[in-house]
Amino acid sequence: MDLKPVVLCGPSGVGKSTFIKKLLQDYKDVFDLSISHTSRKPRKGEIDGREYHFVSREEINKGILDGEFIEHAEFSNNIYGTSKKAIRDIQKTGKICILDIDVQGVKQLKNLGDKHFAPIYIFIMPPDMKTLEERLRARKTDSEEAIIKRLNTAEQEIKYAKEPGNFDAVIKNDDFDKAYSQFLDCLKETINEAGRLKLKV
Ligand code: 5GP
Repeated sequence: MDLKPVVLCGPSGVGKSTFIKKLLQDYKDVFDLSISHTSRKPRKGEIDGREYHFVSREEINKGILDGEFIEHAEFSNNIYGTSKKAIRDIQKTGKICILDIDVQGVKQLKNLGDKHFAPIYIFIMPPDMKTLEERLRARKTDSEEAIIKRLNTAEQEIKYAKEPGNFDAVIKNDDFDKAYSQFLDCLKETINEAGRLKLKV
């Protein structure tokens, strides 16, 4: 049985990567993160092949035309996408694949239909827009224009997440420990299933 991939979505700055980092520390034999491609320039401390495959827009566009991407999106003047290879490489190791993507990507994956790709969809919600804005500013990674763009996108994403049925779980990140424990609850069945499969080997 294929283990369900996990799609983590939520506004830029909401703290998705903190959830993923902790999950990969706590369950390093169970999960692995799909490394996306992006035309965005690396931020300080980001390494090519670790946070993203940092490539040109042309390279991603070519890959999309060649059918190499399962989904892609234009976000804040850059293009982002998940290659089929990124997912396959993780599935080959027997681990569960985690995708950190935006709402445009979520919609595309849903359009593929459950037969092709049936993940658990989780949305991380900021406590409120003011806190999200403070977090984006505190990162000091984006220009004023980019921050405003990200906040506008966040409003749209939150609206989509609030519509019933779009996500399997919506978790408010007001207290990280509490939110992380809710996150683990959503993954409990998958983690248990992964454990059972390991025992059988
Ligand atoms: P950032 O520039 O802050 O790393 O990411 C901006 C947004 O792009 C985040 O919301 C992130 O989840 C999303 N993102 C990252 N990789 C992908 C991807 O491969 N596909 C899609 N659709 N969104 C992505």
